[in-house]
Amino acid sequence: MTICLVSSVSVAGERTGAEVVKNVTCPYCGLLCDDIDVYLEDGEISRIKRGCGLSNAKFVSEADRIESPAVREGEELHEVSYGEAIERAAEVLREAKRPDCYGWSSCSVEAQGLGIELMKEARGSIGSTSAVCHLPSVLAMQDCGAPKATLEQVRNRADVVIYWGSNPVEAHPRHFERVTRRADGYFVKGKDRYIAVVDVRETLSAKISDEFVKVEPGGDYEALQAMRSMLQGNEIEADEVGGVPVETLGELLGRMKDADFACIFWGLGVTMSGAKHRNVEALTSLAKELNDYGRCVSVPMRGHFNVAGFGQVCTWKTGFPGFVDFTGDEINYAPGENTSVDLLRRGGSDAMLLVGSDPAAHFPLRAVKRLREVPVVQVDPHPNATTRFADVVIPSALVGIEAEGTAYRMDTVPIRLKKVVDPPEGVRTDERIIRDVMGAL
Ligand code: SF4
Repeated sequence: MTICLVSSVSVAGERTGAEVVKNVTCPYCGLLCDDIDVYLEDGEISRIKRGCGLSNAKFVSEADRIESPAVREGEELHEVSYGEAIERAAEVLREAKRPDCYGWSSCSVEAQGLGIELMKEARGSIGSTSAVCHLPSVLAMQDCGAPKATLEQVRNRADVVIYWGSNPVEAHPRHFERVTRRADGYFVKGKDRYIAVVDVRETLSAKISDEFVKVEPGGDYEALQAMRSMLQGNEIEADEVGGVPVETLGELLGRMKDADFACIFWGLGVTMSGAKHRNVEALTSLAKELNDYGRCVSVPMRGHFNVAGFGQVCTWKTGFPGFVDFTGDEINYAPGENTSVDLLRRGGSDAMLLVGSDPAAHFPLRAVKRLREVPVVQVDPHPNATTRFADVVIPSALVGIEAEGTAYRMDTVPIRLKKVVDPPEGVRTDERIIRDVMGAL
C-alpha cells in the first residue's frame, strides 16, 4: 500500500518504525479540528494524537466496510464488477421519472459539486442531511440574517458564550478546548469567559459551565422572545417564560448586554424543537439587537463534518442552499416540499441515490416504507441499515483519511482534508464514482 504523507517525521523512541502525519483534519464533526497527528505503522493507522473519542473511533476503529460493489438479485446482494455497478446505477437514474439524491454531509465539496451536476443531468432533485438537522437554521438565516463570526474571532474576543440547545461535550468534544473554556485568545483567557448553557436538561456541558438555565421542552421561542422584549425595555408580566424564571432571563440578558463580545452557539435543541426555524429567527434576531450595546454573534453547531459545505456548493451552483429540484425548466427550491423526506412520504420520488447517509435509520417510518419500494443506489464506505434493501451498493473511500478534499467548518471556513492512507483495494473516491455514473448516464 502506498502511503501518502503530507509531512512525516520519525518518531523513533515512541514507536519503532512508525511515521506520523501532522496537522491532519478530523473528518468527523463540524468543528473540523486540523491539528491531529496520525501515527502509521506498516501503512496502517495505529493511533492518533490530540483527537477526541469520536475522532479516534473514525481514524483507528475497525468499523465494517462495504467490501465490493454489489447488485441485488431477489433478496440477496451479489458481488459485481465496479463497471457493472456503475452501469446499473446509471440505469436506475435513467429509468426514473423523478429521481432524488440525498446525503452528502460526509463527502468533500468537490464530490458535492459533481453530485449537483449529476442530478441536473438526471433531471431529479438533491438535498443534504441538513433536512433532518439545521435546515430550520438555513431558512431562518434566509429570512432575517444572522450576525456571524469565525471560531477564531470567538476564541480571541468572546467574554460571554451561550450554548443554546447544544451539548458540545458529547457532540463536538473539543469545542471547549479549541474555542471557549480551555482556549486562550488574544484578548480573553478561556477561564475568564462566562459560559452559560440553556437546555431542557442538565447535560455534561451544562455541568462544567458557569451557569445552567433550564428551559422547558418547546419553550425556547418564548424565552428568546421574552429576552428580546426585555431588551426593548418592556416589563414581562409573568413569573416565568418557557419554564425559565423571568429574573434568570433578565440576568442572562444583562450579561450579554454588558459583554464586549458575546457569542450564542445554537444546536438541534433549537432547530428541531417547538417552533423550529422561528426559534432560530428569534435567537439570531436577539444576537443582532444586542449589537446596539456591544458585539454579539451567533454560530450554528453543525454536526457532520461537511454538512455546511453542501449549502455553500449548492448556493454557488444553483443560487439556493439545497433541496433543489431540476425536473422543470427552472430550478425549483422548495424546502418543506422537496426534501427527500417530503418526497418519499407523498410518493413523489421513484428512485434514490444515497451518498454517505443512512436514511433507513433516521427517516420517519412512512418515508422509509416508500424508500423500500423504490430502486435505491447507495454509495458509502460502511454498510448500514439502508444497505439491507439497497439495489446497488458501491463502496467509497473515507474522505479526510483515504482521500483528500475540502470541507466547510461550522462557521463556513473552508478547510483542506488530507489523505493519510490508501483506501482498500478497488475502492474509489466519491468524486470518481459520481463522475463515472455521469459518464454512464
Ligand atoms: S471535536 Fe469533532 S472534529 Fe474535533 S477531533 Fe473531535 S470529532 Fe474530530
